[in-house]
Amino acid sequence: MSLSDIATKLTAHKPRLEAGHVWLAGAGPGDPGLLTLEVLAALQETDALVHDALVSPEIIEVAGQAEKFFVGKRGGRLSIPQGEINALLVRLAKEGRKVVRLKGGHPTVFARGGEEALALVENGIPYRILPGVTSAFGGLASAGIPVTMRGVNGAVILATGFAAVSDDRPDWATLARTGQPLVIYMGLTHMKETVADLRAGGLPPETPAALVENATLPEERVVVATLGTLAEAAAREQVASPALIVVGGIVALREAMAGSA
Ligand code: SAH
Repeated sequence: MSLSDIATKLTAHKPRLEAGHVWLAGAGPGDPGLLTLEVLAALQETDALVHDALVSPEIIEVAGQAEKFFVGKRGGRLSIPQGEINALLVRLAKEGRKVVRLKGGHPTVFARGGEEALALVENGIPYRILPGVTSAFGGLASAGIPVTMRGVNGAVILATGFAAVSDDRPDWATLARTGQPLVIYMGLTHMKETVADLRAGGLPPETPAALVENATLPEERVVVATLGTLAEAAAREQVASPALIVVGGIVALREAMAGSA
């Protein structure tokens, strides 16, 4: 049985992508192997694919039959205003297209999928959210760092480092006081301030930390540091977007999990 037959068979009980509907789908962090079967099936059904920069070209190619709309956004910076993306989704649905809105990772993790869903609801357009593997989970797995570990952490915090001044800005000192590890998305631009705020919240400079760049892709790099040396390490290694910052005791398990400790 071909993979597409398997995807069709295993998703047979799910709603079909109908004309005039929009599915907000997650493509995972990059490795096409992390695409879900449901998203794979949707990519084969769609005739209008609206996608971002963080989605791998191999994944886009699965929707060979679809018209493609690139609405590139990266690192939180919009090259197309969100309102225009919402309007495009509404227009395509009203034209009777079978729309897939594909984003990197999971569609409602720091990806404005919620705003798109609200715009669709306002316009009476049926939609579904198809989850994807968020880069924190894909990236920690490929970097060999556990998400939770008995005796180390009973929670994990996913945070955005991009919202330096807006209302979405996490209260880093409060997060630091939880003592729980953080995975910070879009954290490179404001890393120095974020680190200073985490330190102010009481996290010691020797707290293990890592950067995971291009997680799950062939060019993945993992840079291990401490909270105190993180900014310096990022500059030295020229770590670039997309990258995750991981802070906390789970990072220290990496060596042991790789069997090299
Ligand atoms: N919806 C996405 C996140 C979008 S915000 C998700 O669920 O993963 C964009 C940020 O995600 C990037 O700045 C980076 O911090 C992170 N990211 C996405 N893909 C990544 C990858 N392959 N490697 C490392 N970080 C990634």
